[in-house]
Amino acid sequence: MKEIEKEKTGTLYIVATPIGNLEDITLRAIKVLKEVDLIAAEDTRHTLKLLNHLEISKPLISYHRHNEDIKTDILIKELKQGKQIALVSDAGTPGICDPGEEVIKKCIEEEIPIVPIPGACAMINALICSGLDTKEFVFIGFLPLNKKNRKEKLEEIKNTTKTIILYEAPHKLETTLKDLKDIIGDRKIVLARELTKIHEEYIRDNIDVLIERAKELKGEIVLMIEGAEKKEENNLLDLSLEEHYVFYKEKGLSKKEIIKQIAKDRNVNKNEIYQKFIDRN
Ligand code: SAM
Repeated sequence: MKEIEKEKTGTLYIVATPIGNLEDITLRAIKVLKEVDLIAAEDTRHTLKLLNHLEISKPLISYHRHNEDIKTDILIKELKQGKQIALVSDAGTPGICDPGEEVIKKCIEEEIPIVPIPGACAMINALICSGLDTKEFVFIGFLPLNKKNRKEKLEEIKNTTKTIILYEAPHKLETTLKDLKDIIGDRKIVLARELTKIHEEYIRDNIDVLIERAKELKGEIVLMIEGAEKKEENNLLDLSLEEHYVFYKEKGLSKKEIIKQIAKDRNVNKNEIYQKFIDRN
């Protein structure tokens, strides 16, 4: 069966492409690129190189940050006329720090089907080999350049207990590391550089060493920061009331002190807590 069934309205396929190594493209992505009527690309010249490598010849239309509005309208019109369209960015997954959001939102509004074609994404591949906590993480993308917004974002980063993932251009790495040091202080940092390429490497070091080395680090970089240590109070709120009681009991607090402390931690009236433990010694 063909990957693409002809329907009245076309489908927009969001196709991930390699982030370096050209072999990192899925069989399904190749099939979709071969079968669509049109490929919308962030940079048509860049995508042409990939298509030539895959021996695919298709009409290309540019779809980048600065023409997203106009090109969204054109793509929607084509989709409504039954054209099957693939959207690709220069590298990795479209929509992740790359154009895509506008046309996807518009497709949802217009009830045009959208299908993701999974593949490479720098942040996921950086994270999985980082050695940092992968259970919970926050993807920030590029830090804002505006001073005030940047400071606010860095303050947010300082307080999050989850692994933080940033994208950064090599020539801005030193400044970003210095800003991180100023606001969050010394924290475990992992740099994933040139993923899937010849000079791929992970650099795990403290912030001062990384600042020293920043100038010599060329190529594409994902910067990951270990989350802030969880405060005891945060953990306590995850406990059941009974566990919360035992926690303070084991610390040697009296019943009265425990009730007072639980009420404070949970920001509730202490009588409420007292009622729950009325029979407790
Ligand atoms: N859409 C892409 C994705 O799925 O990851 C991201 C595009 S964003 C414009 C480019 C940024 O992604 C780079 O500045 C870098 O931070 C990161 N990046 C892309 N390719 C990379 C690679 N091979 N190694 C490390 N980081 C990479």
